[in-house]
Amino acid sequence: MPQNARRSDSITEQQRLAAIERLAVTYTPAEECFDRITRLAARVFETPIATLSVVGDQRVWFKSRVGTVISELPRIDTFSNWVMDHDGALVIPDALADPRFACCEMVINAPYARFYAGIAIRSPNGAKIGSLSVMDTGPRHHVTIDVGYLRDLAAITEDEFHRRHLTASQKSMITELGEAQRRAMMDDLTGVWNRSGLNSILEREFTQSAASGLPISVAMLDIDHFKKINDLYGHDAGDLALAEVARRLRAAARPVDSVTRYGGEEFAVVLPDCDEHSAQAVGDRLRACISATPVTVGNSTYVDITASVGVATAKKNTVISLLLTRADGALYDAKRHGRDCVIAAPATVGSA
Ligand code: GH3
Ligand code: MG
Ligand code: MG
Repeated sequence: MPQNARRSDSITEQQRLAAIERLAVTYTPAEECFDRITRLAARVFETPIATLSVVGDQRVWFKSRVGTVISELPRIDTFSNWVMDHDGALVIPDALADPRFACCEMVINAPYARFYAGIAIRSPNGAKIGSLSVMDTGPRHHVTIDVGYLRDLAAITEDEFHRRHLTASQKSMITELGEAQRRAMMDDLTGVWNRSGLNSILEREFTQSAASGLPISVAMLDIDHFKKINDLYGHDAGDLALAEVARRLRAAARPVDSVTRYGGEEFAVVLPDCDEHSAQAVGDRLRACISATPVTVGNSTYVDITASVGVATAKKNTVISLLLTRADGALYDAKRHGRDCVIAAPATVGSA
């Protein structure tokens, strides 16, 4: 049987869950390759919402999402749960009018989905691991959607899972830490690692760097005057802006880099194999991706956002905490220099 042959009927729930476990995908950072697909799905079907979900034993977790900040839901409350038992695309013109879906969490609460279309995503052995879905906030009674596009996008998603490129450190972190530990290290709002995830990544990257002799740098980034965005547009708009900044950082960073939320409106990006010279250039690329175009924070509301960046490069015998302190000091200097700029921490003799 060819690798991608459809044979889900013979696959048990236990085998399905084992396939998800092997992919090591739940509670991992958002990845640009999947975000591209959900963005495209939303465009193609002209829906405000699109998601790529993984259907676990009890919970559905969103690997990628457009138009919603929900990161996970009880499985029983989701459309994706129904997709697992459905052949082909599941299309629901009006979820509110259908007793199977009228009580789904995404219908009764934000984002208040009415129209739904979704299709299963399969692992290489044919197990349904989740779904690619699009949703609209209004019903679509007399509109025929081309499910061929949904099938194509699902096939591209499956290919991306096969091709997924993780560095040795990322792979070891994802596979060595169990799902529960990973869950505690993820920042739900932005879909990147949180501070505890950052510490774990730094430890692994420092070990790798010591073994390979390659330099390692960190970029610390703080959004300028972020309080004003909250004050002017509200906290929810501030949340959307933070999620968008994280997305831009992920897109601008190299695949080997790790974007993390250091806290509040501050991000730390770990840059393996990056010397002082490159760190300055990468720092500037990260800064520029934020100010390049205004950020949408709600219905037709766009705000200009800038960020200040401090970069530091580890020297021999560096202590992780000192590297972060140096990057933070450089960030403070960038704020004093007028913001929206990059400052490199001065090289120190001896450690860090
Ligand atoms: P500066 O240029 O000096 O960094 O100014 P700032 O306004 O960005 O810095 P300040 O530390 O005064 O304010 C940071 C703001 O970030 C205050 C806080 O409410 C907001 N913030 C922190 N975390 C979140 C969050 O998760 N969501 C939202 N919406 N706001 C947040
Ligand atoms: Mg701050
Ligand atoms: Mg700030």
